[in-house]
Amino acid sequence: MAELALKRDRMVEHHIARRGVRDPRVLDAMRKIPRHRFVPDHLRPQAYRDSALPIGSDQTISQPYVVARMSELLAVDAEHTVLEIGSGSGYQTAILGLLARRVYSLERISDLAKQAIGRMRELGLDNVKVQTFDGTVGWSEFAPFDRILVTAGAPAPPKPLLDQLAVGGRMVIPEGDRQTQRLVVYDKDRRGVHRRLGEEVAFVPLIGRHGWDKREVD
Ligand code: SAH
Repeated sequence: MAELALKRDRMVEHHIARRGVRDPRVLDAMRKIPRHRFVPDHLRPQAYRDSALPIGSDQTISQPYVVARMSELLAVDAEHTVLEIGSGSGYQTAILGLLARRVYSLERISDLAKQAIGRMRELGLDNVKVQTFDGTVGWSEFAPFDRILVTAGAPAPPKPLLDQLAVGGRMVIPEGDRQTQRLVVYDKDRRGVHRRLGEEVAFVPLIGRHGWDKREVD
């Protein structure tokens, strides 16, 4: 619908480009993916505001600005294979699907993973594979990955993810406590990994073997 496309253009202009996201491929992807199809029906009128929204199972779809910013920081090109941890609604997954050659995404809550899989199918994103699993152990079958994006807050970088990152690869992950985190960028070269701190964010916790213990979070 043209009206919704217009709302997306405005969202990109006011909340994303104006706040400093420049990568034209990211801005283009944010204009294309219909965010209203990733939120519960009763929240559709709010889909193009710049806020996180509840998606059930105590989880949230991320704020559009944060999705755009993380996508830009990840510096994805059309040849890359990307691993995403925390599919949630599948919104960020779909954006990555437009930017990368292949996307593998893991979600620990099967209800959410199922819905995300349905949305990828509806949008014809056949280069994206979503599965229910603890993403903190990665997805060794398809490793190494050129890019890894974690979209839940971690106490520390899960070692299996750094191991599954290709040489020349990059991982972006929110690290901190259960309420607030800083985005951290890891670049891997032959000598090791280099760590750089980005801006403050607030994600739901990364729960799993190399993340938070579920009992610490409840
Ligand atoms: N990018 C998503 C954000 C979802 S919120 C979106 O825009 O919709 C973070 C998601 O990470 C939640 O759905 C949560 O269930 C999931 N998650 C938390 N720990 C996880 C783990 N160890 N493995 C996979 N997914 C995890």
